[in-house]
Amino acid sequence: MNLDELAERILQGDRRALARAITLVESSREDHRAQATELLDRLRPHHREALRIGLSGTPGVGKSTFVEAFGCMLTAKGLKVAVLAVDPSSARSGGSILGDKTRMERLSRDRNAFIRPSPSQSHLGGVARRTREAVALCEAAGFDVILIETVGVGQSETVVAEMSDLFLLLLAPAGGDELQGVKRGIMEMADLILVNKADGDLKPAAIRTCADYAGALRLLRKRPQDPEGFPKAMTVSAVQEEGLEEAWAEMQKLVEWRKAHSFWARNRAAQARHWFDQEVRHALLAKLETTEARAAMDELAARVAEGSLSPAAAARDLLAELDKDDRAA
Ligand code: GDP
Repeated sequence: MNLDELAERILQGDRRALARAITLVESSREDHRAQATELLDRLRPHHREALRIGLSGTPGVGKSTFVEAFGCMLTAKGLKVAVLAVDPSSARSGGSILGDKTRMERLSRDRNAFIRPSPSQSHLGGVARRTREAVALCEAAGFDVILIETVGVGQSETVVAEMSDLFLLLLAPAGGDELQGVKRGIMEMADLILVNKADGDLKPAAIRTCADYAGALRLLRKRPQDPEGFPKAMTVSAVQEEGLEEAWAEMQKLVEWRKAHSFWARNRAAQARHWFDQEVRHALLAKLETTEARAAMDELAARVAEGSLSPAAAARDLLAELDKDDRAA
């Protein structure tokens, strides 16, 4: 299939073409990179936009269960839902694979849903770019909602928040003093905190935990992009499918407010700038990874180590060398 055909099929919402295109953006082969960039350029003028929802939570809080229940609720409303994952493999050892279709059986059989498990890339930067481009592909394919799931470890939440319109933090009911367990920075990123498992024996603990977080959220500085009452904490039960409609209603309320007050567009523009910045850095770092650059660096490093060249002078020489290579190329 050539790029024209692939682009055409994606625009028609063909899920197999979409899967193929995502495989293309995941590839690190140089010719694939060029094709992926070309494909994304062809799709961009169509300006299709989805609601991008980031979702984070530690293993076991019920992310898969929530995504399945929430996703099915949305498809039942006639919305098309895509599920992507950002899963640095260093974080995977303990938990299961994010976006695993066997754990979202109902949703994976749904014709209005598309689930893509996380690729086995260890480098978070690589996963971030791939996911961002996969988001763009899903938007071009006409999806209405894109759920981007991640585990609550390390930098992956920040990465997901930086490509989302809304960020949800999923938590489990806790015993009293666990509030401190959630890092302040992550709380500050959240638009909605959903305390899951508010059912059966766990319900009282969930309600208590929710009240604790609501209190903690009120102590945070008010963000300009929020209407009164946000960020908000709510209880849900993914298993019982309770609280999901309410959570969706809050998300829509937030989206409408942000769109009406231009925060939506401003946020997307800021994100695009951020990713441009990342791409530049990425490309510059990649220059250091070529064989020639490595060799030059090793040689200069040896001279720095033996004391015949200062680190600053060696760095200057290396950059001059790279510049020279660029001009020759
Ligand atoms: P993930 O690791 O965050 O994706 O969590 P899972 O979705 O795999 O759920 C972990 C465990 O919590 C499973 O045994 C689920 O059945 C259970 N679980 C998920 N959601 C709920 C819920 O709403 N209520 C209860 N009681 N259990 C839940």
